[in-house]
Amino acid sequence: MIDYSSRISYRSQSLRPSEIREILSLTEGKNIISLAGGLPGPEVFPKQQLADIAKRVLEDLGEEALQYSPTLGVTPFRNAIMSFASSKGIKVNEDDRVAVTTGSQEAIYLIGLSLIDPGDNIIVEAPTYLAALNAFRFFGANFISIPLDEDGMKVEMIENEIKKGIESGKKIKAIYTVATSHNPTGVIMNDERRKHLIEIANKYDLLIIEDDPYGFFVFDTDKRFTSLKTLDTEGRVIYMGTFSKILAPGLRLGYMIAPRQFTRTVELGKQIVDLHSSTLSQFIAMYAIKEGVVDETIENARKVYRKKRDVLIEALEEYMPKGSEWYKPKGGLFAFVYLPKGVDTTEMLPTAINKGVAYVPGRNFFADGSGGNAMRINFSYPSIDKLREGIKIIGETAKEMMK
Ligand code: PMP
Repeated sequence: MIDYSSRISYRSQSLRPSEIREILSLTEGKNIISLAGGLPGPEVFPKQQLADIAKRVLEDLGEEALQYSPTLGVTPFRNAIMSFASSKGIKVNEDDRVAVTTGSQEAIYLIGLSLIDPGDNIIVEAPTYLAALNAFRFFGANFISIPLDEDGMKVEMIENEIKKGIESGKKIKAIYTVATSHNPTGVIMNDERRKHLIEIANKYDLLIIEDDPYGFFVFDTDKRFTSLKTLDTEGRVIYMGTFSKILAPGLRLGYMIAPRQFTRTVELGKQIVDLHSSTLSQFIAMYAIKEGVVDETIENARKVYRKKRDVLIEALEEYMPKGSEWYKPKGGLFAFVYLPKGVDTTEMLPTAINKGVAYVPGRNFFADGSGGNAMRINFSYPSIDKLREGIKIIGETAKEMMK
């Protein structure tokens, strides 16, 4: 057999495994409580409605739905996304266009492909969504990490970092943020910081990449946080949404709303990646939006996840070793837990998996390699009993590691 290693492109040699995907494959088919992935609770999927819609889509639009379709998405679906986003308070400008993508992960990839030259700097929250770090890194990005607290990214620190960066000759392109119901911490950027972030982007001529998969899952208030896209007056915000958490990730549908000039570049990139996203999925999601299934799923999921969040917090309080810290998630699917200093969550993981529970070690979420004593815990997927049991096992494992 020939050896491929010497033939792999320079670019692809830099690819690193996504620790989440690796852990998911370790746990697959085994009786392990997985608090690792970002999976929706299976009880939230509108299975019956989607079965009925899929049948009708094929009956009504079969020839079109099974056919190839335009790269940026089928027009009625793109229009439905525009209306859906507007109805949720996301301001869409006349010059904006929707680009339908294969999950928002592809949108992240296409944004990286379209924007990032090797050596460009992206400002990120610390911690942040690890698969965005991996994708941007693939295109040669460096990162400027900004810490966060329970009100989101510490925006007041950014300006200083930008000045330092400029002085040392760094080219800073964009700020990537999961402002509402952040992955991995569940915090929400407050309104003041949102306004300030826009001012900074304007002042230093930066783009903002607003990744918003969890904006609909805010637990403790009915207030909707104003999106950065809505606050933007200069066309600097590239907004990303996804149907993964408000309908089903198996459809693999995400979207981007951004000025036409940018979506045109994205379109050319997507032409060489996958031609277009699934036509069938697009029509199914379009019916689901129009028939209110998406709104119902959001409301149902929000209640289910809030309950699970509460159970998680109780369990953390009961089982985690003294000195552990976490933000009570205000929204989203995750909590980020810091164990007492000195406990290494990467080292602890094999023992935890042996005892029957998986989580994602915290280091992956930091561009600067910190977070060694942290872990991300998903609470949307497991049943309430499994969630409690999983936290109990993690707590016991951590206490043993500390002996
Ligand atoms: N962005 C963030 C912040 C996420 O948490 C995720 C998935 N969990 C994604 C993007 C990608 O999701 P998808 O491709 O399913 O839309």
